[in-house]
Amino acid sequence: MKTHYLKINPERFDPEQLRPAADILAGGGLVAFPTETVYGLGAVINHEAALHDIFQVKGRPGDNPLILHIWHHRQLSEITETVDPRYQRLIDAFWPGPLTLIFPKKAEISSTVTAGLPTVAVRMPSHPVARELLRLVNRPVAAPSANLSGRPSPTRGEHVREDLDGKIPMIIDAGPCPAGIESTVLLLAEKPYILRPGSVTREMVEEILAEPVEVVTGGETVDRPQAPGMKYRHYAPEAPVTLVEGEEQAVVAAINRMIGETGDENIIVLAFSEHLNCYQDVTVLDLGPRESPWIAAARLYDLLRSCDQMKATRIYVEGLEKTGVGTAVENRLFKAAGGNVIHVS
Ligand code: AMP
Ligand code: MG
Repeated sequence: MKTHYLKINPERFDPEQLRPAADILAGGGLVAFPTETVYGLGAVINHEAALHDIFQVKGRPGDNPLILHIWHHRQLSEITETVDPRYQRLIDAFWPGPLTLIFPKKAEISSTVTAGLPTVAVRMPSHPVARELLRLVNRPVAAPSANLSGRPSPTRGEHVREDLDGKIPMIIDAGPCPAGIESTVLLLAEKPYILRPGSVTREMVEEILAEPVEVVTGGETVDRPQAPGMKYRHYAPEAPVTLVEGEEQAVVAAINRMIGETGDENIIVLAFSEHLNCYQDVTVLDLGPRESPWIAAARLYDLLRSCDQMKATRIYVEGLEKTGVGTAVENRLFKAAGGNVIHVS
């Protein structure tokens, strides 16, 4: 299949430029499109075959549900019967934006979308190109990240090309995604739970709900995270990743010690800007200043993909503080490392 590339300047475009993409979606084809988090691989909700194509093209396990994307609040009524007032407060505060909410699903929502679950995940992206595309289609669009399953998520048009060229009819390239990590996924049971941390942080949600929010990610259920738990390796580059957490100078010292002990030739360190000169004879890539985890978030997947391009044989990453967006970046690094985390002090 020939993939068409639609280049869009997200700051200045005519929505009609997106018409061919909307037509492909409406006709049951797949389109990769930019959002403020990562690029999504979209299929319109009422085309069962297109929904199946998403799983096939990505190599995505069928038990991993998809998020529905909408542009208007009224579309929620196509998806769920009622909206809990606590959800409404979050919607008012964070939509459009990188917050995915889990609702009880309406009977007519395909179980292909929800992987057989009785619930459905929904979000309203804020990226202008995503919004205009969703407006033209005017049906909810199911979209996971537009990468091959397991690889680092795509935050640039080139990343989507690397993974999906020749496999889908169209890729909309609008440059880098501003947030750079996937949306926060939030479930309101009796208590609120963050199932996946993102750039809408626990602190931000707690402020709106005025109650404690628990972050529950796969990681906590692993007995011994140090074991190379392939089950959790995700968002991952080719080379093994070691995440080193702890006090700043101890982290630098530990990584230097490991570099000395490893026989591998092509080591890459992902380090904060302050530490770029702390490592010798290895490639060092810049996560941004330690105090600015949103910069690490925006760069993370591009850096992990660069490690593949530079044919890294081993990757060491300086850990972040688990507050604010740092929680989300740490979560993705934990998964990229397959749980291979070292704590130093
Ligand atoms: P991706 O589209 O690749 O960002 O992945 C979507 C993620 O959303 C899934 O891996 C789940 O973590 C989450 N998700 C989607 N639907 C549900 C649901 N019904 N319940 C809980 N989590 C969900
Ligand atoms: Mg994904």
